[in-house]
Amino acid sequence: MSETRKQFFARLGKEHYTILVPDMCPIQFHILKRVVELSGYRLVVISPEGREAKDVGLSAIHNDACYPVVILAGSFIQELRTGKYDLSKTAVLISQTGGGCRASNYLSLFRKAFEKEFPQVPVLSLNFSGLEKDFSLPFTLKRARMMLAGVCYGDMLMNLVLQSEPYYPKDEVDAALKDCLDMLDQQIGKASFLRRKANYRHIIERFSNLTPPEKRKPLVGIVGEIYVKYSPYANNHLASFLVKEGCEVVYPSLMEFVQYCIYNSIEDHRRYGKNKATIALWQLAYRYTLSICKEAEEALKGTGFRPYEDFRKVVEAGKKVISTGVKMGEGWLIPAEMVEYTSGAVKNIVVVQPFGCLPNHIVGKGMIRPVKALNPDANIVPIDFDASSTSVNQENRLKLMLANLG
Ligand code: SF4
Repeated sequence: MSETRKQFFARLGKEHYTILVPDMCPIQFHILKRVVELSGYRLVVISPEGREAKDVGLSAIHNDACYPVVILAGSFIQELRTGKYDLSKTAVLISQTGGGCRASNYLSLFRKAFEKEFPQVPVLSLNFSGLEKDFSLPFTLKRARMMLAGVCYGDMLMNLVLQSEPYYPKDEVDAALKDCLDMLDQQIGKASFLRRKANYRHIIERFSNLTPPEKRKPLVGIVGEIYVKYSPYANNHLASFLVKEGCEVVYPSLMEFVQYCIYNSIEDHRRYGKNKATIALWQLAYRYTLSICKEAEEALKGTGFRPYEDFRKVVEAGKKVISTGVKMGEGWLIPAEMVEYTSGAVKNIVVVQPFGCLPNHIVGKGMIRPVKALNPDANIVPIDFDASSTSVNQENRLKLMLANLG
């Protein structure tokens, strides 16, 4: 790139580039899209349907690459082929955690997949770990705080939707969600404590006529690889399937994953002396996320809706079965979430993992036995997803788990 990073991103803003992002967490990403737009970029969150994007991905990327990469590449290529975009002013954006797994090196794979058909489309990275410096979206501290607040709002909305939808008509839940998202579109630029408190109040009030009954349906937690866990396209609409089968779905918050990444940077410093220059920033970010999550938890007290567990308790739960030094893929977070769920009210768990994803098979499927040793009434099923499989096998395995609901 002959121009500097600053010039490059200034040009993207000035020339009104359209930046495509995948809809990993549809609710949270709707809010984050707005935050990024406040920085001057125009974002489009893409939501593929059907088999086509998976087939396109398989033809563009070698099938020994991870499932999330295959479907993300396929989704982008399918979207770029629609003819809706001026390709000379379009870019794609993927998030990277910067961990030791293959995902940290996937940007070049995306570029290779695009180079024949869309050589003019830049592939950008969203990360806070210094990866792909020339291509990572620049963020000020203010925007980073707004993003964290946005994740918290999105998590609260996802939580309320999950707790309402098994008991109320879909159109009522969708209408409440839409009202709250419209409100946040206006308010997200103001990240003060009082504004957040007022926004939480507004959200809870809007959902107050959708409070779940005291007698709940069986609770089923979904944990696993970050993209496959949340993306309805990647997991063949797993949450909707479970609701249709008479369950209430419980998801960990997206913030829990953000905190896991921050916590790992602090752990790296503690164990190996890494991140000397940035450790104060990581510690500050950690404390900040704990405090904004606490605000959301306080706001939900006495409302009939279940809040998320404090992240520090999740860490302690995980330490009963695994070291926090295990952090390849989703690392210690998956067993920690399984222990935390099964020690409480969520006895049934689906562990989703991309087919061939070694790290998450070790910490997902591989950790079921120690989790069950701790909580023998746990009912856990691992489900693999890959681009060539159909949902029939997955649904059959899920039905076996549902036959033993705890
Ligand atoms: S965690 Fe699994 S799916 Fe993700 S990059 Fe690593 S191997 Fe691939």
